[in-house]
Amino acid sequence: MSWDELAPDGVYPIAGANALFLEPCRMISSAYAHYFALPHRYYSRSFFLRHHDHSADNPQTQLPQKKRKRKRKKPIHNHSNPKELLAEQRHQGIRQFILDAHQAFLAIPEVSDLLKSLEDLVHKSKGSSDCEEIHDTGTDMVDFVKLSYVWQSPFYDITLFGVQGSSLRSTAPISTFPLFKSTVENNLHKESIGICAGTTVILPEKSRFLMSDFADTWRTLASHLGNDYNFILIDPPWENKSVHRHAPYSTLPNKYLLSLPLKDLANHQGALIGLWVTNREKLWTFVEKELFPAWGVNLQAIWYWLKVKSDGQMITELDISHHKPYECLLLGYMLPHHKKDSSQVPPPKVPPDKQVLISIPGDHSRKPPLACSNFFNLDNFLRNLFQHLHRLNVLSAFIALLSAYVPGHDQMRGLELFARDLHPGCTSWGNEPLRFQQTQYFSKR
Ligand code: SAM
Repeated sequence: MSWDELAPDGVYPIAGANALFLEPCRMISSAYAHYFALPHRYYSRSFFLRHHDHSADNPQTQLPQKKRKRKRKKPIHNHSNPKELLAEQRHQGIRQFILDAHQAFLAIPEVSDLLKSLEDLVHKSKGSSDCEEIHDTGTDMVDFVKLSYVWQSPFYDITLFGVQGSSLRSTAPISTFPLFKSTVENNLHKESIGICAGTTVILPEKSRFLMSDFADTWRTLASHLGNDYNFILIDPPWENKSVHRHAPYSTLPNKYLLSLPLKDLANHQGALIGLWVTNREKLWTFVEKELFPAWGVNLQAIWYWLKVKSDGQMITELDISHHKPYECLLLGYMLPHHKKDSSQVPPPKVPPDKQVLISIPGDHSRKPPLACSNFFNLDNFLRNLFQHLHRLNVLSAFIALLSAYVPGHDQMRGLELFARDLHPGCTSWGNEPLRFQQTQYFSKR
């Protein structure tokens, strides 16, 4: 059995557990009519690293050539200080849920078919061509963060083109925007192509982005991006020794996040807030005691992203003290700003606690694409509907991923902060929101 038969949109509910197995490439692809995300690009670390270090293909993740000392794994129970003890207590509180979810995942009768078919897809996609030759704008990926520092950066533009029919020839230019510090929008009900800085990017339908540094725009984020979001997903560049060492991106002092103007960005009727956090106790204390109170967010549920290898086993042992195989998504509500509005809005359906999302990780720090979970490309939907009638069941699980929990009845209006990609119907902000939108990550359908 293949993914096409079992979970065409990449979301496989795991029976008997509060858990879902996700295939992010399919989730991303379901949002595009003309393109699909290339599995070998998405999973380059998980499927190929053993044989070849693909970080060397990517200028942003190149490591210095010096030999790295092999670090000894920390002993399993080494709680020399009170913070470690607290972290261990937190871990002990959820380890059985994680184990149960993982057991239920391994017990899926089709699990080996799903993993095998994914591996086949990844290897097959390696042989297929990506989109770059269509637009003839060079083969190198652009490092937008570096580009934003050069003196010419204010002069860089992005020009959007429509995508025409199956030939994928771009139409006449639709519009041109400054590339940095300006809100760029694809207001078409289909994806468009953006040409900028010698590269080509794909913009999903109705997506928007602002590419800027926190220092330059934190005061003006709401005037750039609007104040109507009922779902805000945040994946900050937390200070972290290992991030410093490998330096895939720069980090921000945690205190800076207190200045993120979440209240200004959120819809006046309230918003669901999702915050990715690492397992460091210092960080949890900061979020619980300072950050959420400053933002006015009430913590409601914690979801766990369990990372597995291509054979389905966890990426590290569950009980190693400093490198857990899971990361946490804290979900909370920012309450309505005005009392009179709160009476008009039905109370949101609260997300279930301890939901486990299982997937094989992609690039360093790349999270499963939760922000695209409520938006469907109609062409894809109809195409798949006719091919796979049982998809309707899957669809309900997929939509329920997060959009069911946003305040209000209507559509999710999503904003992703510190984003590295775009999603249909959503707005992305960060210093590199086009990173994974470059055509090298996609192929033609
Ligand atoms: N959620 C993303 C994903 O799934 O790919 C990963 C986000 S990563 C943890 C944090 C991002 O914040 C990186 O893209 C990094 O370049 C960006 N960042 C770091 N410092 C920043 C700053 N001063 N202003 C804006 N973005 C920044």
